[in-house]
Amino acid sequence: MSAFAGKFYVPGDDGFVEAAFSRVFNHRRPSDRLPSAVLVAENEQDVVAGVRFATENGLAVAIRSGGHSWAVWSVQNNTLLIDLGKLNSAQYDETTTIVSAGPAILGGTELDPFLAEHGRFFNGGHCPTVGIGGFLLQGGQGWCERGWGWAAESVVAIDVVTAQGELVHADAHQNSDLYWAARGAGPSFPGIVTKFHLKTRPRFSRLVESVQVYDIADFAEVMTWMYQVEPTISPDVEIVCVSLCPPSIDGEPRKRVFVVTGVAFTDSVEAGIEALAPLQTCPLIDRAFENIVQESTMAQQREGQLRMNPENWRYYADNVWVDGATDDIIEALTPVFTTSPEPDAFTIWFGNGLMRELPDMAFSLQTPAYIATYLAYEDPANDARNRAWLNEAMVAAQPVTVGQYLGDSDMTNRQLKFMADENFAKLQDIIATRDPEGRFVRYLAHDPSTVNKNHWQL
Ligand SMILES: Cc1cc2nc3c(=O)[nH]c(=O)nc-3n(C[C@H](O)[C@H](O)[C@H](O)COP(=O)(O)OP(=O)(O)OC[C@H]3O[C@@H](n4cnc5c(N)ncnc54)[C@H](O)[C@@H]3O)c2cc1C
Repeated sequence: MSAFAGKFYVPGDDGFVEAAFSRVFNHRRPSDRLPSAVLVAENEQDVVAGVRFATENGLAVAIRSGGHSWAVWSVQNNTLLIDLGKLNSAQYDETTTIVSAGPAILGGTELDPFLAEHGRFFNGGHCPTVGIGGFLLQGGQGWCERGWGWAAESVVAIDVVTAQGELVHADAHQNSDLYWAARGAGPSFPGIVTKFHLKTRPRFSRLVESVQVYDIADFAEVMTWMYQVEPTISPDVEIVCVSLCPPSIDGEPRKRVFVVTGVAFTDSVEAGIEALAPLQTCPLIDRAFENIVQESTMAQQREGQLRMNPENWRYYADNVWVDGATDDIIEALTPVFTTSPEPDAFTIWFGNGLMRELPDMAFSLQTPAYIATYLAYEDPANDARNRAWLNEAMVAAQPVTVGQYLGDSDMTNRQLKFMADENFAKLQDIIATRDPEGRFVRYLAHDPSTVNKNHWQL
């Protein structure tokens, strides 16, 4: 009889390959990595038993919650992959307004409707199918992070299975080293989180969006204005500028445009329009192909995210935190915003200019603007060309690059700084104490000895 309530697979078993890959979002999958076994955990006891099984069999442990790591961190050699997909329930406490949720619950598709029933909101990932597990561990750039903070800042406690195979509770008072690490360590957290206890916020009642569409040739001028106006805009507005190609009309070739969006999370349409008003000050507004301000819903916003990130496609993603003089930033970012070879690729500038002091936690690197590119495509023949384009565009951005966010990174290709040096050193101490035998996989990096350094500064 199996030691697990859930299903257990080794290579050669029916269902092994499916168990290893079917919940991986990115269809550009690694051809040189495969786990030694997969456990689809049924419950927390299975996770404990899985860690003990790995110890007895000399395997490291890799973990999957929502399967949305672009770089497919959950699939690694010589590991037991513990798939937490069934740990996706949630309980809400009316008295504390805290929600306790399994790591595989999908932030938008599952957790948000559950919280909406209680009039509450949690700022999960933009794409509704992102699992909260990987998302929260690396910081969590959720809806309106600009004003409401990193989603990890709302983690009040976690339940964790340790490298010794024990289930413990961690918060600011007990096992506080694990609590500190869980808010930013990402895929090098020395444990398996089986439950997150999260602060929720009152739910806004109205959503108003502003969408302005410019010629891509206007990128530099629009961005120059954006750098001036963004810090003056309400913290209840999310601001994202996107380079994308809208669908073709009448069979015309698709043309890349530059779209300035604002989404106000508010309690009345009038308040939303007022909060978005500064976006009407763009000096190029008369040249905009479209300039719309309208009421929207979370469901519509999420549909838009799903359209931009189709299931079953291949993806390359990369990102940078930038800082410096506005002109230098714009010059360095021009290639990544204007020259993408794939019509379905998009690049975002995420306004983060309302920089707040972060609480003491592992996550510790951000700048006033976040730039990320998502190369979405279907044809594997374009892999090499797309990789080369993205790397070149990121080299152009180096003069203004401070580091990057783990969430959209792939250290097998490019290694950058993602954490303050002192936080990284503290994290290494916690890992050494909590997981001295390396039971849990570490950052999947091209060169593990230079993790958390910008590769061109070595
Ligand atoms: C379409 C799409 C949209 C996205 N949008 C956003 C966004 O808006 N904001 C943002 O911040 N990020 C976003 N991301 C990035 C995403 O948050 C990260 O890829 C994150 O790692 C995904 O979490 P997951 O649980 O779904 O992934 P998984 O692939 O399941 O997990 C990634 C890794 O995290 C670690 N991990 C996961 N769960 C646990 C656990 N319970 N215990 C210990 N370690 C664990 C493991 O190392 C695991 O391999 C997006 C990704 C995609 C594909």
